[in-house]
Amino acid sequence: MPTVRQEGCSGCGVCMFYCPEEAISMNDNRVAEIDQNICIDCGKCIEICPRGVIFRAGE
Ligand code: SF4
Ligand code: SF4
Repeated sequence: MPTVRQEGCSGCGVCMFYCPEEAISMNDNRVAEIDQNICIDCGKCIEICPRGVIFRAGE
């Protein structure tokens, strides 16, 4: 499942917009967070993030 590298996220919200499952929300630090219980691992957020800070562990 994808996770967000917290230091690089700009809080732009693009990943939230493109996630088909609404699995992504902004936390109190205005950084994107992925709910691993909702995410279906489609990979759209990884492709779309302009900062390239969403990744799968081990990749
Ligand atoms: S698209 Fe990338 S930079 Fe923008 S909020 Fe999502 S994780 Fe952060
Ligand atoms: S992998 Fe797909 S379902 Fe999971 S957070 Fe990213 S866009 Fe949403």
